[in-house]
Amino acid sequence: MNRIKILLIEDDKIDQMAFNRLVKKENLAYEYQVVNSIESAKKKLDYESFDLVISDFFLGDGNAFDILEQILATNTPVIIATGSGDEEIAVKAMKLGAYDYLIKDPERHYLKLLPVTVSNALKQKQAEEKLRWQNLRSQLLAELALKIRQSLRLEEILKAAVTEVQKFLRADRVLLFQLHSHGSGGKVVQESVVPGWPVTLGQNIVDPCFQARYMERYRQGQIRAIADLEQADLQPCYIEFLRRFGVKANLIVPIVHQEEPWGLLIAHQCTSVRQWSSFEIDLLQQLANQLGIALAQSQLVEALRESEERFRTMADSAPVLIWMSGIDKLCTYFNQSWLDFTGRTMEQERGYGWAEQGVHQSDFQHCLETYTTAFNSRRRFQMEYRLRRHDGQYRWLLSTGVPRFLADGSFAGYIGSCVDITERKEAEKVLRSINTDLEQQVEERTAALVAANTDLQRRNILQILLLQLSNQFINLKADEVDQGIDQALQTIAEFTLSDRSCLFQLSADGATLSCTHSWDSHKTASEFPKNQNLPVDYFCWSFSQLERFEPIQVSCLAKLPPEAEQFKVDLEGSSIKSFLLIPVISFGKLFGILGFYTVQAEKVWTEDEIALLLIAADIFVNALNRQHGEQLINQANAELAIRVQELNQANAELDRSNHELEHFAYIASHDLREPLRKIKSFTDLLVEDYRGQLDAQADKYLDYISDGSVRMQNLIKDLLTYSRLGRSELILEPTDLGKILEQVLSDLSVAIEENKAEIVADSLPTIQANPQQIAQLFQNLISNALKFRSDVPPQIRIEAQLQQSEWLISIRDNGIGIKPQYTERIFEIFQRLHAREKYSGTGIGLAVCRKIVERHGGRIWLESEPTQGSTFYFTVPAAG
Ligand code: ADP
Repeated sequence: MNRIKILLIEDDKIDQMAFNRLVKKENLAYEYQVVNSIESAKKKLDYESFDLVISDFFLGDGNAFDILEQILATNTPVIIATGSGDEEIAVKAMKLGAYDYLIKDPERHYLKLLPVTVSNALKQKQAEEKLRWQNLRSQLLAELALKIRQSLRLEEILKAAVTEVQKFLRADRVLLFQLHSHGSGGKVVQESVVPGWPVTLGQNIVDPCFQARYMERYRQGQIRAIADLEQADLQPCYIEFLRRFGVKANLIVPIVHQEEPWGLLIAHQCTSVRQWSSFEIDLLQQLANQLGIALAQSQLVEALRESEERFRTMADSAPVLIWMSGIDKLCTYFNQSWLDFTGRTMEQERGYGWAEQGVHQSDFQHCLETYTTAFNSRRRFQMEYRLRRHDGQYRWLLSTGVPRFLADGSFAGYIGSCVDITERKEAEKVLRSINTDLEQQVEERTAALVAANTDLQRRNILQILLLQLSNQFINLKADEVDQGIDQALQTIAEFTLSDRSCLFQLSADGATLSCTHSWDSHKTASEFPKNQNLPVDYFCWSFSQLERFEPIQVSCLAKLPPEAEQFKVDLEGSSIKSFLLIPVISFGKLFGILGFYTVQAEKVWTEDEIALLLIAADIFVNALNRQHGEQLINQANAELAIRVQELNQANAELDRSNHELEHFAYIASHDLREPLRKIKSFTDLLVEDYRGQLDAQADKYLDYISDGSVRMQNLIKDLLTYSRLGRSELILEPTDLGKILEQVLSDLSVAIEENKAEIVADSLPTIQANPQQIAQLFQNLISNALKFRSDVPPQIRIEAQLQQSEWLISIRDNGIGIKPQYTERIFEIFQRLHAREKYSGTGIGLAVCRKIVERHGGRIWLESEPTQGSTFYFTVPAAG
């Protein structure tokens, strides 16, 4: 409990003692000093303050009134003690400001009242003090709030705040420290300091022992009050920091703006330590709140100012005309573009000036009505009207207006913009007239297109149809072609909107035309009488054109030339109104005519249709040719079958006769050999015994007989060889041609030597063959090569070449050669090219060769030129 510091002004020793006794007896928490004169009291009060002064009224050097003013000036409560009967003095003292009084009675009963009186006086003082503070604080805050409302300049408000607070607190320095956002420091933005102490205004101060947690405390609005720097529990660095500014006591209140510490409101006491009262703290706290509000307000004002600034800059620089009106419909603002456009001033335009002076007379009523109607219902509007430009020209504007509302939702008028749409309007006008023309053109074109499209569709369908037809016709068998053409005539006629169609074919002699296929939608074909064997003259006027492969179209019978009179009559008789004749061409010649006719109405066949019908004609003629071809092939096949049969019969006959012949030859030669041998033997005996004994003639005859019988023997021998070849069964075995050749050459060694022949042979293969017959083959060919030699010694070369599955063997000589026309003939039996006297022989050798080769499944032929030698080739199947 705090002791009450009392100054007792009393010159009566007994009263002094009585006071002393009372304090002790009652154990009052009084700490008191006693002076016994006014003079000494004055001195005491000059340098020391007390919670309460109790003063006797009459003193040796004056009375309590002499000192009352001085005491009250320090706000110290005073109790005046007077003697009994001096109540008037007491009342006067109270009026002058004393808190209470005590009447000293001789028994000193007043002392009993003293503690209560002291206590009441102190309470009263406290109450008064509080009131005074509250008044002061209210006054200060009211002043500041007023300043905040009146002044939108933050700087002014902050300046006033520190000045007033410094005065109010009687602090040595009050400053506003704006914190850097990162925390550790800030800047002194406002300061009010008693002269003599360091000025910190404008300084950037960094707190060397700043800790992040302070920021959080400031954010929460925590206040920091230090009564005595030296005694406080502070970090040494902080004490050092504050000492720099002469601080002995300080009070720090954060200013929070938008939930962040913006800065600190700081009071410094430099002269002495200072116990900050809760009033002071509270005051500073409230002030800080007010400053927070001021900051927020200033920010808003700044934002508003900026936005207005922005709006005006934007509006003035906007290429569109901008206007604004208030809640009374009257226009209050026009941007620079508007004023430039109309060439008038803001004042002239305000209110309804813009409409009355600028809007075209014809648009005025509509313009005002649209604006007023929209305005009354607070709706957005858009309208077009003409406004006079500075050069007097009326321009079309498209004006848009929207209602404006303030933040609190209250209606504030309209804002709108206008754009010059004169060019667009004019373009629209031109466009409208173009559009009208265009629409008309489109209508016409559409009609044409519809017609063209119908044609196109029909042509497309016809194309597809023809494609299908050609596919279909490719697959038709010969006996289906006629039916196919009949059907196609119908389909094509229907698609080309023809009532009849007909295919005429030219007769083989080209003299007449006959209808081979036709279709009639009304089944009246019988009414078209002349459709078989019409002479080409019937088409006299057009036939030459058709022969030039040109189609003929007659869209109206009246157009027919006079020479077609008969034709015309016939067509009229068949109710035909128009027709188209397409030439049908085969292998560059006119094959027939494809005719299309209409009965119901006259028709013009389009070029496309004609082109496609020409294709149809091609399809038909191809099919007919194919049909014709197939018929011919069938006929040929039938004939061939007969021939084959005949041939087979003839072959069988031949085989039989060959067989018979071979049999006959064998029998004949075999049976002839015996009598011939006899003739030969007896001729030899005759020559031996009687040569030279008869006359020369007889000798000559003998020679003839001998020679003839030798030849006869040779002939029979060869014939027998030949006939044997056909008779016996051919037995094949692996046959080494090289060995066979060796044997043959050895057999022919005498002749080879005599002729000085040179024979060269490749290595020859082994084949499946009959060795005897192959030996015979080589023997015949090589002996011929030796026999039919030229003047130079024979050179014979034998080669073998494997060709796929057979061997090709060649025997080449450098003999007399053979004329090309005989190369076949010499393989026939008894065929010789020379007189017997020049080259001996029977003409059977090569026939034997051919028979051997053919029996082995091969062929034999030769290549030769007279005097250039001959090469005989034969093939034999390769073994395996
Ligand atoms: P020939 O008994 O006459 O030799 P071939 O049947 O062997 O009968 O031959 C028939 C004819 O073919 C011969 O008379 C001859 O005119 C001709 N001839 C055959 N071989 C040759 C050859 N190497 N050179 C030229 N002529 C030949």
